[in-house]
Amino acid sequence: MQNIKDLSLEDIERWLASMGEKPYRALQIFVWLFNRSANSFDNMTDLSQALRQRLKENFYISQPKILTKEESKDGTEKLLLELEDENCIECVLIPEEDRLTLCISSQVGCPLDCGFCMTSKGGFVKNLKLSEMVDQIFAAQSLLSDEQKITNLVLMGMGEPLLNYDEVLKFINIATYQKGLAFAPRRITVSTSGIIPMIEKLGREAKVNLAVSLNATTDEIRNQLMPINKKYPLKALLNACRKYPAARNRHITFEYILMQGVNDSIEDAKRLVTLLKDIKCKINLIPFNPFPDTDFKRPSDKAISTFHKILLDNNYVAIIRTSKGQDISAACGQLRGKLQR
Ligand code: SAH
Repeated sequence: MQNIKDLSLEDIERWLASMGEKPYRALQIFVWLFNRSANSFDNMTDLSQALRQRLKENFYISQPKILTKEESKDGTEKLLLELEDENCIECVLIPEEDRLTLCISSQVGCPLDCGFCMTSKGGFVKNLKLSEMVDQIFAAQSLLSDEQKITNLVLMGMGEPLLNYDEVLKFINIATYQKGLAFAPRRITVSTSGIIPMIEKLGREAKVNLAVSLNATTDEIRNQLMPINKKYPLKALLNACRKYPAARNRHITFEYILMQGVNDSIEDAKRLVTLLKDIKCKINLIPFNPFPDTDFKRPSDKAISTFHKILLDNNYVAIIRTSKGQDISAACGQLRGKLQR
């Protein structure tokens, strides 16, 4: 039997048509699933008994399974979810002054092998299905009170979203569907290590924000840190960013992890200034978040602020992003989808 949350609206329409039912009923089913969080077809009272019965015979509605919930001193909450195939993933709820952001995983593990990121240490297991992404939202919502609402989604959890493009696009469509979860596209950010053809495709097919994990200012260093750079080198990546159709007043975000002695020099900062010159962007500097058995180090506060100042002096919008949830390993690059023992 299939999980109905793995079907797009068009998929459900096609199924209904093949059953001799009215395709517009798909919309009703969608509203039940995503707007009213129905967990049983019996609840879908505006559908005929016969259709409900048929749905039950062909589909089920998954319920997210939360294995553990950890809460950081700063209010960040990390959920470990178990999938039906017993793989585990993590998602992170990040409360900020004016927003409540959910950081979503797109893969179990990650194939990229970036040296500074713990997610890739366990290797790549699989792409997440549509339902497995959507259920992260339902899991997080189930912990919130009626007044609390997730306002922003970032695909910055485990995995490389643009290597799971088709499911991620379906996810974006469902998340932004007006009569469903109804997130405004500008409240969704897809973060990528720089899969160029998929950046171009995303620009054509969705209207979401783009974040690019840059992390270096020369191909030499970026090749070492992020092997994907050998396939999609800096210059071509930045060209793709220039062409990304960011809506008016919106900017591409460049994430730049600062690692002592690796990419934190004054020369790096100056190179960054030149590299990004004609791109409407903002820069997030993320001081490296440590994890066991890593040789990388966070630079001194002084080195971080010197780097930051060079960007500000050159009129960039740049912030030092103090990663949230470090005490529960929920910060950038610390997710690995395992029970901590
Ligand atoms: N694969 C996508 C989505 C993951 S986002 C991408 O690369 O963008 C995870 C973010 O955390 C990336 O911006 C990455 O550069 C950052 N990151 C990874 N490991 C980190 C670490 N140890 N400390 C700080 N940031 C880290």
